[in-house]
Amino acid sequence: MNRIFFLIVTICLFPVFGAAQPDRWQQRVKYTMNIDMNVQTNRFTGKQKLEYWNNSPDTLARVFYHLYFNAFQPGSMMDVRSRRQGTIMVGRGQDWDQRVRDRILNLKPDEIGYQKIISLKMNGRPQSFQMEETILEVKLDKPILPRSKVQFDMDFEAQVPLQVRRSGRDNPSSKVRYSMSQWYPKICEYDYEGWHPTPYVAREFYGVWGDFDVSITIDKKYILGGTGYLQNPNQIGYGYEDAGVKVKQPAADKLTWRFIAPNVHDFMWAADPGYIHVTRKLRDSLTIHVLYKPTNATSQQWEDLLNMAEKALPYIEKTFGPYPYKQFSFIHGGDGGMEYPMATLCIGPGAALHEWMHSWYYGMLATNESLYPWMDEGFTQYAEERISAFLNNSSAFPYTDEYNGYYGIVKSGREEPLTTHADHYNTNAAYGAAAYSKGAIFVEQLGYITGAAVRDKILLEYYRQWRFKHPNAADFLRIAEKVSDMKLDWYKEYWINSTKTIDYGIDSLWEEAGKTKVRLSRIGLMPMPIDVQITFKDGSKELHYIPLNLMYGQKPQEDPAIPRKLYDAWKWTNSSYTIESGRKLTDITIVEIDPSLRMADVDRKNNRLELKW
Ligand SMILES: [Zn+2]
Repeated sequence: MNRIFFLIVTICLFPVFGAAQPDRWQQRVKYTMNIDMNVQTNRFTGKQKLEYWNNSPDTLARVFYHLYFNAFQPGSMMDVRSRRQGTIMVGRGQDWDQRVRDRILNLKPDEIGYQKIISLKMNGRPQSFQMEETILEVKLDKPILPRSKVQFDMDFEAQVPLQVRRSGRDNPSSKVRYSMSQWYPKICEYDYEGWHPTPYVAREFYGVWGDFDVSITIDKKYILGGTGYLQNPNQIGYGYEDAGVKVKQPAADKLTWRFIAPNVHDFMWAADPGYIHVTRKLRDSLTIHVLYKPTNATSQQWEDLLNMAEKALPYIEKTFGPYPYKQFSFIHGGDGGMEYPMATLCIGPGAALHEWMHSWYYGMLATNESLYPWMDEGFTQYAEERISAFLNNSSAFPYTDEYNGYYGIVKSGREEPLTTHADHYNTNAAYGAAAYSKGAIFVEQLGYITGAAVRDKILLEYYRQWRFKHPNAADFLRIAEKVSDMKLDWYKEYWINSTKTIDYGIDSLWEEAGKTKVRLSRIGLMPMPIDVQITFKDGSKELHYIPLNLMYGQKPQEDPAIPRKLYDAWKWTNSSYTIESGRKLTDITIVEIDPSLRMADVDRKNNRLELKW
């Protein structure tokens, strides 16, 4: 193939998945699993073949697996942590997760969850292993060499816990039998920061990219949904069969459902004999599934998700990047709402949009959520609010709840920096405000700094360069710097690494030789570029824009209808800055710092001055 032809082929074949991605190495897996479920005992047996590619430059003497179900046993770390949070008062209530509380302590032997490893071999040789509650440690008889592949073969048994959090069975509210997430022994991620054997305390996830081939044998009355593409739809039926096909299920009491899921980092399934299954094809390469029971929402509310998805998808893909998989399933589960590759488990349709948007930040970008929960939950929350506003045709500021949540935690004195490991926040309240609210504000406020249109380009470029690559905070910031042509390290230092807050105020204004001077003051410790809008009696407006010196750049004018005056940069060491309007003081009716409300100023009372003449 000649070079020009090669180039043309490369450009045509890899517009999304090929060139221009960073070349950071990452491990790769292929799981082949056969599961036999007993719906009377709620136990299942599993055979797992795991092909593992060590693409790292390191020699691995041991490997780790997650055994999440073991968290649902009295005295587990999740149980102890939850009950401890119950002793901490935050605002008006106990800090524990209302879904967990002390419920794990009260699980009976047939209600607990467990995953037991019966045997484990590497390349056919038995390996010795040790279980530390939710983590399995395997000291290998021979190390895995750099850039080599091994095969693990495992037999395991598990019992599905009574639903407490995320996974489990028989939630009393949704009446769904099986929400099967975190259900199989899952190898921990090993990356440029080493192993991530994070004990499960009900928080966040991180997984190895790979392919799944999962066969689930279960009572034939059960209807399944989950990650992946069903391989035998015409044998299964239940709404999965091709149009016009007459389904002939095998005569046995059980059916085997085989799913294949390419290029994902987890696999979830759910099962219930009462699921109603509806679908809509949004394009040849994408079908939306809804599987629900009309228990805690109506059929119409559930099936409306198909309309929502159809209306939202073009806007979502234009704003956040293409959805590359062939299906997405909204599945009724037993918890509030939880994201998985190609699917979500939600207690009701209200949570569905948020969980779907996780397909981008949890699913495709897949940051290490334990280290950067705000890059998953915060970005997802940002996307959800933006799409909600689009769907509701609303022009109101969409992030009021997030800003108020952040201001609330600042006021409480319990705020912790976004660099805190998700499991190690002192309170659930601080974790929620940080990951969801402060994380969403990070994106919206970035639009204040770079201009909204540039921020939108940053989001798309981030997706383009880092999808399927586990980016970290510095990776995002570098994209933002390159696209905006600004230095933004200071934004990360203050907003992510510290709990310093923003507070600017209007100090004073006076007239000099027919012109108006306005002195601004920086009261908070975090510096920002400043927009000041002056409104005049005749209704006209001026925008006065002062970049921050650390930016080494300026945002483009955002609203062409309002004339903008650009000032020399405000040095971050300086606590005041004076701007000037060419018009008389008595012409002015309002002076306001950041009328867009995007800058998270913890005291907005001193941002706006109304003059009455
Ligand atoms: Zn979320």
